[in-house]
This record gives sequence, C-alpha cells and structure tokens, in this order.
Amino acid sequence: MEGNMKVVIKEEPGVGAVIGTKEIPKVGPNDILVKVMATSICGTDYHIYSWDAWSQKRIKTPRIMGHEFAGEVVEIGKNVTRVKLGDIVSAETHVVCGKCELCVTGKAHICKDTKILGVDTDGSFAEYIAIPEENAWINDPSIPPEYLCVQEPLGNAVHTVMSGEIIGKSIAVVGCGPIGIMAVAVAKAVSASKVIAIEVNEYRLELAKKLGADVVINPMKEDVVKRVLEETDGMGVDVVAEMSGNAAAIQQAFEYIKLGGRMSMLGIPTKNVEIDIASLVFKGIQIHGITGRKMYDTWYQVKGLLASGNLNIDTIITHKLSLDEYEKGMELMKSGDCGKVVLFPNMNK
Ligand SMILES: [Zn+2]
Ligand SMILES: [Zn+2]
Repeated sequence: MEGNMKVVIKEEPGVGAVIGTKEIPKVGPNDILVKVMATSICGTDYHIYSWDAWSQKRIKTPRIMGHEFAGEVVEIGKNVTRVKLGDIVSAETHVVCGKCELCVTGKAHICKDTKILGVDTDGSFAEYIAIPEENAWINDPSIPPEYLCVQEPLGNAVHTVMSGEIIGKSIAVVGCGPIGIMAVAVAKAVSASKVIAIEVNEYRLELAKKLGADVVINPMKEDVVKRVLEETDGMGVDVVAEMSGNAAAIQQAFEYIKLGGRMSMLGIPTKNVEIDIASLVFKGIQIHGITGRKMYDTWYQVKGLLASGNLNIDTIITHKLSLDEYEKGMELMKSGDCGKVVLFPNMNK
C-alpha cells in the first residue's frame, strides 16, 4: 500500500516521543499489513517513553513504539496463505527463529533469537503495522477491538497463573498493575480458592477488588506477611504470581509462600534481590520464570477464557484515548491510576 501514516515515534534517544508521519510499511513476501483499530499501552512502552536504563541499552531510534494491538488485514505478501484480507488479527509479539532446539520443542517463547515487535522492530502506535504472517492471531471479529488488543498482556497473566496447579489453590498476586489485575481476574475465572491482591496504589487495589480479589492488602498500611498467614490458616499461599519486581515484596513473598508452593515470576527487578536460598530449599519451593506466552498454547487459553465470558475485561480497560492523546496515556501509566489504557488511531474527537 502506498502513502503515509500517522505514528507515535521515538525519534531520538531521550525522554518522550512525538507524533510523526512515516511511510506505510512495505510488506515482505511472508508478511501482512494490518490497519490498527486499537492498541494498548504496555509497561514496556512506558519504559521506552521514559527512556529508562533498559531502553537506553535496547532501543535503537527512530522506533515506532507499541506492540499490543488488534486490526484489519489490508494487504498480504505473496507467500501468505493462512491469513486472509479482512481478517481481524492481533499479534504474538515474540518474533522467533522457528529453527532452534527451543523453537522445535515447543518452547519458542524462550527462543534465544527472539525479536520483539515495537522494541526491536517498528510497532503498533501507528495507523498501520506490518508483521510476519506467522505471528498473526486470527480473532473472532464479533469481539470489540479494545478487548482483542489486550490479549497479549492477558496471555502473560494467563501464563503466570496457569503455569502450575491453580484450581482450588490460594494465590497471592503481588503488584496489581494492568497484568496483575488481569492475573486476579484469571485466577478467579479458573476457580482459585482465595485470591489475595497486594498493591501500594489504592486505585489499583480498588480495581483488584472489583475484579474479584477476596482479600486486598496495601503494604504501606499493613504487615503483609502477617496478614497473608492469617488469611491462610497460618500455612501461607499455594501460589505466588510475582508481578511487581519489587525487592521487598519478593522477599516477603518467599516468607508467606506455603511449603511446597509455586512462585511464578513475571515482574522484572531493576537490580539484584537478596534471597535466603537455604530457606527456599528447605521449604521445597518451585520457582518459575515466566517469559511471554507459550506459542501458541497460551493464546488458545486466552481465546477460551474470553469466550467463557468469565473475565471482566471491561473493568480491566479503564481508559480509551485517541492515538494523539498518547501523552495523557503515558501520564496515567506514570501515576499508576489506571488499568489498561487503549489508544485508537482512528478515534474522532
Ligand atoms: Zn506488552
Ligand atoms: Zn528459535
């Protein structure tokens, strides 16, 4: 397709981003061109926007940000057979090699040669995005695009919560940012026995409550370890979904996790965290690092959960803005007073 498009782009290193105009991406033989209907702001986008230490190392400018989206397929490469024009797609954001030992043994989500959309390639804060056909997830077009675009982070929550037994188990969700509140909703939807949400921001604790958390704890106001033990007959929780990356929160979680419990870790600490490994050994803890979504097991689980009607996505999406209002979205992410923020490239205001 010829022509230009509106984009939110990081033109050069430093804080912020700008609205710009770029050529509509060219489609390679194995790629598809998607007209973006909705795209949500991820923590990663905020990291890039605020130009933290990780972004400074990883991001090469100019770069169009964004990777969580849903849109209509408007052009396909000559080798494309599975995806059709007019399909409404989202994307698995890990572009993997497909050939290494990990890829061919069902562990493509940890492929060593992973490239990430909107991080290593141009992203979805734009009117159009080109992606490999292989990464396209074909959606049920009757589901609103703002629900479809959040499947990628929802997949992170599903992968974290469901990476071990969960039915009838108690779970602590540590950190209730967008993926944390999704984890609360997922844990309830799949019948965890008790969901304990731990978060310092009151707005987000309130969201966790609305999404069904049985207990909410603000560590600024309460002794977390004591309260979790009280809520679990002194035994501790079966499962911890660690979404915060916060050192003190992680250390506390290892104190209140039950003997033999599972710690699934998605949050990324910015520096090393001191842990008493000996106590973990004696407690028989299982620690599980969660990277992305299983390709494509997690996507089918997400699809099933959306179809079940048991997930209250409407509560998870707290703000709908036009693409031009991306700065307002970034401010919301900074304040923490939001769930998922969705941008619409074609919203008329
Ligand atoms: Zn994301
Ligand atoms: Zn690979």
